[in-house]
Amino acid sequence: MSMFCWTRPLQLTLALIKPDALAHPIIFEAVHKKILENNFLIVRSKELYWGSTDSQKFYCEHSGRFFYQRLVEFMSSGPMQAYILAHEDAVQLWRSLMGPTKVFRARLMAPGTVRGDLGLTDTRNTTHGSDSKESACREIAFFFPEFSLNYWYQEQEILYRT
Ligand code: ADP
Repeated sequence: MSMFCWTRPLQLTLALIKPDALAHPIIFEAVHKKILENNFLIVRSKELYWGSTDSQKFYCEHSGRFFYQRLVEFMSSGPMQAYILAHEDAVQLWRSLMGPTKVFRARLMAPGTVRGDLGLTDTRNTTHGSDSKESACREIAFFFPEFSLNYWYQEQEILYRT
C-alpha cells in the first residue's frame, strides 16, 4: 500500500485506456504503470466495451468533424479500461502525463508522455483524460453512474478539515 501523503484535498478525474492500448498487454502495462508511478489513487476501475451508440454519445461534441466517424468506430472496436483517479490537481496532472492529442505534436514536443511514446495516430492515441473539473464530473457519471461524486468530495472536505 502507498505511503504517499497528500497535503490538500484530492481532485477526481476520469482516465481511459483506449482500445489501441488495451489490445497490447505491454502498452496497457506501461500506461497503468504511469498511473501508479505518479501516485494516483485508483478510486474505481473497470473494463468495458462500447457499442457505437455509447461512442457517439460520449464524443457528440465532435459530430461533424472530419474524424468523427473514424473516432466512433475506433472507440467501439475493442475493450477499454476506465478509471476514476484521485490526486491533487488530478485533471491537469493526467492531461500533462498523457501529452498532446495529435501524435506528431506529442512525439516531437512531448517525448516521455503516454501519447508521445505510445500513440499510434491522431485517433489511436492510447488514452483519454477529462479536460476540466466539470467534464470530469460529467464523464465520471457517464462511466460510473453508481458512483456518488458528492459523497466522495464531502468525505475529502471532512478529512482535510480535521
Ligand atoms: P483530447 O482527447 O486530447 O481531449 P479532443 O477532445 O480534441 O482531444 O479529441 C477527442 C479524440 O478525438 C482524440 O483523443 C482523438 O482520439 C480524436 N481526434 C482529435 N483530433 C483528431 C484529428 N485531427 N484527427 C483524428 N482524430 C482526432
